[in-house]
Amino acid sequence: MQDIIDYAKKISEYKLCNSCLGRQFAKVGHGLTNEERGKKLRKEIGIDEVSYEECWLCEGLIGEIEKFSEMVLETIKEYEFETFLIGCKIDEDILERENKISTPYSESIKREINREIGKLVLKKTGKEVDFIRPDIVIIVNTIYDTVILDVRPVFIYGRYKKFIRGIPQTKWYCRKCYGKGCEYCNYKGKMYDESVEEIIAYVPLKIFNAKDESFHGAGREDIDVLMLGNGRPFILELKEPKKRFVDLNYLQKAINEYANGKVEVDSLRYAERKEIEILKERKYTKKYRAVIKFERNGKINEAVNALRDRKIKQRTPKRVAHRRADRVRYKKVIEMRIEELKENEATIIIEAESGTYIKELITGDDGRTAPSLSELAGVKMEVKSLDVIEIGD
Ligand SMILES: [Zn+2]
Ligand SMILES: [Zn+2]
Repeated sequence: MQDIIDYAKKISEYKLCNSCLGRQFAKVGHGLTNEERGKKLRKEIGIDEVSYEECWLCEGLIGEIEKFSEMVLETIKEYEFETFLIGCKIDEDILERENKISTPYSESIKREINREIGKLVLKKTGKEVDFIRPDIVIIVNTIYDTVILDVRPVFIYGRYKKFIRGIPQTKWYCRKCYGKGCEYCNYKGKMYDESVEEIIAYVPLKIFNAKDESFHGAGREDIDVLMLGNGRPFILELKEPKKRFVDLNYLQKAINEYANGKVEVDSLRYAERKEIEILKERKYTKKYRAVIKFERNGKINEAVNALRDRKIKQRTPKRVAHRRADRVRYKKVIEMRIEELKENEATIIIEAESGTYIKELITGDDGRTAPSLSELAGVKMEVKSLDVIEIGD
């Protein structure tokens, strides 16, 4: 105890407010605030009260905690959240002075300010402090008197179906202006009027009152390919949402109403950020329905039978070679069968390993995919339409 009195006497050469004095002994005992501890010490060593404004260390900062908490409450009032965490930025000069007088029992002024603002916010809102994964991180800049929020995104998992051709999965910015709008894109900033992403995200952006979104799909289908069957898994990330507790049954209905038969979602549930990586890396087998055109059907029955349960070799297709590395992949065709066969047209069902280029498996892509249905049947083939009808687990 003498030790503490000695320290207290020594640092009292500087004029310190109760809080700044008491804070240098914060680790000594429990149950007292720094303010209370400072007051007690001051009596024991017999020195006069110092106001916040006169305080050599904080120069009045401690007296502003109430004001900061009001600023915080004003900034967060529009946000829905369960948990929060307060952080603050403090003048370097104060931190330097703090260093000069700190004792082995000190806590930092930063910690006190965070805690004391936190207490007031907790009292007013009834929300909880969470140090690990808060819904909102609130940073109080005490130098410029501003409050900055870091709002955790909301993640929603679901599966989507796409019932019309000609729309890409994600927003596709104009290749000339990258979104700004130019003559090439008719000042729309993008290459397509709509996308699965935009159709799905429109309603959630409004309901969650979010600033922006990101769409994470478990792979993607080509623009002209339908996504049917059980749908493709996706995670929609809503950034800086003001609302975060929305009934997803209601949301699903609202999305599907807006999508108006072009796209449909189901199985919505709240998700975590870490699920995005799992979703992206997982290998899903896929089942397709392809309508194929040809002049004559050649040996198509034999070709289909020969490809079933067979490994094929695929060089990066010509149509994507400009954006993907040219390399050879080995993929397995799991199932192939004819659903309907006509003079110049066949409908076939194909199930293949994740990442198989189906159009090329049919056409052969000038020998870049081998063997192919066209090669084995001995006739030129053209894919009239292609739909994903099931995504496996
Ligand atoms: Zn002070
Ligand atoms: Zn443009």
